[in-house]
Amino acid sequence: MHVAAAPAPILPRQLATPQPSPSSQEEEPPAPPSLKDRFSSAVGDGLNALAYTHKALPNFIYPSVFGTAAEKAQIWQTLDSLPMYDAVRPISISVRESLGSSNLLGVTRPAINSIELNRTGIGMTNPENFRYTLIHEIGHTRDYEGGVVSVITGGHSSSDPFGAPPYVSRYAGTLKQEDFAETYAEYRLNPARLRHVSEEKMDAMERLDRPNFMQAFVDREEFRETGKLIARGLEVPYLRWGLGLMTQVAAYSLAASGVGEVISGVSNKDTMRAVSGGTQLAAGASLMFSYKHPVLGFVALGALGAHRGLEIAREKGARQTASYAALAGGALGGMVGGIAAPLGLTMLGYQAAGPIGGAVGLVVGGVLGNRLGAAAGAHAGLALAG
Ligand SMILES: [Zn+2]
Repeated sequence: MHVAAAPAPILPRQLATPQPSPSSQEEEPPAPPSLKDRFSSAVGDGLNALAYTHKALPNFIYPSVFGTAAEKAQIWQTLDSLPMYDAVRPISISVRESLGSSNLLGVTRPAINSIELNRTGIGMTNPENFRYTLIHEIGHTRDYEGGVVSVITGGHSSSDPFGAPPYVSRYAGTLKQEDFAETYAEYRLNPARLRHVSEEKMDAMERLDRPNFMQAFVDREEFRETGKLIARGLEVPYLRWGLGLMTQVAAYSLAASGVGEVISGVSNKDTMRAVSGGTQLAAGASLMFSYKHPVLGFVALGALGAHRGLEIAREKGARQTASYAALAGGALGGMVGGIAAPLGLTMLGYQAAGPIGGAVGLVVGGVLGNRLGAAAGAHAGLALAG
């Protein structure tokens, strides 16, 4: 009954359609950087900074929800019944008129964690089935919580006791991923029955159902309401998918450019350049795996700060010892600024002006916190070493 697509790192076909045709965005001839170029490069830097912040810190931005008013109300009711750290896992939940077959009730794209539900699927007019299907799909996002990285390395369903009987439903026996999602839905909706069917799967779900200390920290009104407002603001078709992909791509491209810098530094015998590439690589890799442990997010912010510190040292023509002091100062400042500014300004902004203030605080803190913190730390390091 509960058919959902097998998780695979494919992009939905629809994503290709709304993009402008290539001819409309042909490269402009090279020219000295105009005000427009400088503006777009500043916007690009700001978006990257936000993407890094989003990957490094606990998520509190709820999914963007698409459907009729009644469907949206049902979805929000279900989301509010879940622990916050599971409710914020999907990036979007869309109710579509049809998913091609009335047997297919929902689909999750695990690489970006977007969920689609079938309005005309069998039994979907029954609120209980609708709710069960949504929680089943959220189970898939729990399974593949690291997005593309999880798709490559395998989700929770790849390890015991999933993919082996006893199963909570016949559908759970079709695929290990479906076993996980069905078990998750049973755990949320009918835990007594899950314990009766499989003590082992119940234990596995209980082990997964613990917020880490950062997820627990953001589970408060300021972040919840700000996260809901941002989600509603992003209820523009495909925008959330684009942003979701962008945050993942930002981490890979950071790691890739780090690798390039290390290679070029080593081949040109430029130690500082190789070290600088190493900080980028460390930042990118930590961002990719930050879903595994919150400390990796802090490491990423520290590595980004270290990289900024080295840039500042280079601009000032600092010697090697002073450069290492700038690196250390940048790492510390970047970590403190990268954590404290977005989280602190969200809370302050919310207290001053409600969810809008929270959102402004998050953006300002996310764009500037890590870089300003790193710059302050690097200058302090240079002064101490100088
Ligand atoms: Zn499924």
